[in-house]
Amino acid sequence: MTQAILEGPISIDTCAHTRTHVELLPPGSERYGRVVCVDCAKQLCWGPFPQNVSRKQQNAIYIRQLLGSNRLTDWERGYCEGIQHNHRLAPHQQRLLDGLVAKYNTERQRQL
Ligand SMILES: [Zn+2]
Repeated sequence: MTQAILEGPISIDTCAHTRTHVELLPPGSERYGRVVCVDCAKQLCWGPFPQNVSRKQQNAIYIRQLLGSNRLTDWERGYCEGIQHNHRLAPHQQRLLDGLVAKYNTERQRQL
């Protein structure tokens, strides 16, 4: 599992089911996530890369980065913890999260 894969998704296995979900890998992993069958739990392929992910998955990443940044105010930290397991945000919640992301610039630029 050490070879670098630049394009996804990479097919690994198949099954007869159609429902899948993506399990995110920890930040810094070579791959973004695993696509797993909901019915039989087989890993079907490596997940889509971040430019293709849904808003819901992107939110999960942002929230994790914000909570991991140690720069939030008490209120902001409480807010992020509150929405951490509710990734289907209402529009005003999404705006708040987007504002925090902009404020703390949680993209990867700081690592460049
Ligand atoms: Zn299956």
